[in-house]
Amino acid sequence: MGKRELGPYPGLRYAHMVSKDIHSSHVVRQFALYPIDIERPQKGRRVEALECGSCQKPLKFKVLSVAATRSRRWAWLVLGLAGVAAALGFGVAIFAVGGQVVEEGASNPVGPLALGFLAGFLSGTVGLSYWRYEDGVRGPGSPLISFGAHALRWPPS
Ligand SMILES: [Zn+2]
Repeated sequence: MGKRELGPYPGLRYAHMVSKDIHSSHVVRQFALYPIDIERPQKGRRVEALECGSCQKPLKFKVLSVAATRSRRWAWLVLGLAGVAAALGFGVAIFAVGGQVVEEGASNPVGPLALGFLAGFLSGTVGLSYWRYEDGVRGPGSPLISFGAHALRWPPS
């Protein structure tokens, strides 16, 4: 978790979707994985295009330096932990308030608390997932969400 080595080249691969089989209950996508052959810059970011190994389409990538990638990971981790803490706090508050009788006409405080819980839960989930997957690479799709023929993927370890 979040401990992937940051080498001179990105560890993420880019993927070209080879096939998509739609079954009744799920979709099976198959990808061809290719290394992202762009050296990390000393600092800042580098934008380069690679030709897809399957379809020869130019794909644009943005690769961050090791330092920039580290600080991204920190930012995701902080967001994730803050989200988890907020969700816990709101969760406890909902329990505390939920047991009380609300006076007639007074607005029910559980609604905003539930929203806070949801927001905390979401940012916790997103932050911790990105913390895990962040490799300082931006390209077609992300390791978490992809819709098109191309995506970023971690190689199976
Ligand atoms: Zn392709």
